[in-house]
Amino acid sequence: MSKLYNFSAGPALLPHPVLAEAQAQMFDWHGSGLSVMEMSHRGREFMEIIHDAEADLRELLNVPAGYKVLFLQGGASQQFAMVPLNLMGEGGHADYIDSGHWSRLAIKEARRYGRVDVIASSEASAYTTVPQAGSYQGTAGASYLHYTSNETINGVEFPYIPESAAPLVCDMSSDFLSGEIEVSRFGLIYAGAQKNIGPSGMVVVVVREDLLGHALPATPTMLDYRVHADADSMYNTPPTWPIYIAGLVFKWLKAQGGLRGIAALNSEKAGLLYHAIDASGGFYRAPVEVAARSQMNVVFRLADDALDEAFLAGAKKAGLVQLKGHRVAGGMRASIYNAMPVEGVKALVGYMQEFARQHG
Ligand SMILES: *Cc1c(COP(=O)(O)O)cnc(C)c1O
Repeated sequence: MSKLYNFSAGPALLPHPVLAEAQAQMFDWHGSGLSVMEMSHRGREFMEIIHDAEADLRELLNVPAGYKVLFLQGGASQQFAMVPLNLMGEGGHADYIDSGHWSRLAIKEARRYGRVDVIASSEASAYTTVPQAGSYQGTAGASYLHYTSNETINGVEFPYIPESAAPLVCDMSSDFLSGEIEVSRFGLIYAGAQKNIGPSGMVVVVVREDLLGHALPATPTMLDYRVHADADSMYNTPPTWPIYIAGLVFKWLKAQGGLRGIAALNSEKAGLLYHAIDASGGFYRAPVEVAARSQMNVVFRLADDALDEAFLAGAKKAGLVQLKGHRVAGGMRASIYNAMPVEGVKALVGYMQEFARQHG
């Protein structure tokens, strides 16, 4: 078992019990004599795995009737194209909120397929906050409104769900399953797996059924939600290993008290870390506005960035790895997804306090 605490933004750490269970089942899943990686995706064993994974996810998220849950490939980035291809409609247009790196990429991709109106942006704040609720309005006749609930690189998270007359579409890649949400507020939610769900190679899509079947004519078959929905994510060979691990993660989450239980832990962890930053007398600084601070990706800087290298080297020695901020953001970033134990955050806080004592 690894003794490191891994603060990577993604691919991110997985719960130790999940890795241990996968290890124990590596050569022989439930007496089948086969590894999950070797199974026919249409066989009885794998059908059970995908069925249970979907049922557990539906239970965790409390997905209402009338929504499909899809396990697809291509990551969240492929959704940047799939969403407009399927939802924009011929001659249609869509609204987007710009809150940082990932929403900008989604906007850029959507512009290949039709008119995109950026109805709100926090660019002027250098993405240290999100647009305020009530400060923007959708355009008339928009096919949907897209936003990114948590900007993984900037470390900003929407503290609210935007109001929208058009179906609301959300890139939830880095805060999916971090707390309870009201799925019925959304037309479509997508989340790449490698942050809070499982290994890379998969994206989870939760989509309202009435939004299916409107893909632009040139949409590739593999990018048509309806094709995958009609086939229960089995149109072609699905990402079997990520689905299996995600299923183990969903069971682990249920054992943590579901999303309510994990939300309490997440706010405890984020609270500990932000408090350590705020209480450092300016040695550490969090650039993000308090109300928009991400619970998942805690971005901070050292007042003296000449100490960055020493901070990272010392952290690594203490078993605290992957703390360097994204290359476009600089500084530090501690990603503390669901699988990060409270002890890992306490270890980081202890290290930060010690480092500040030595260098302050
Ligand atoms: C990581 C991430 C992506 C990109 O995910 P891929 O699976 O690598 O395509 C998109 N949006 C957000 C918010 C992310 O955190």
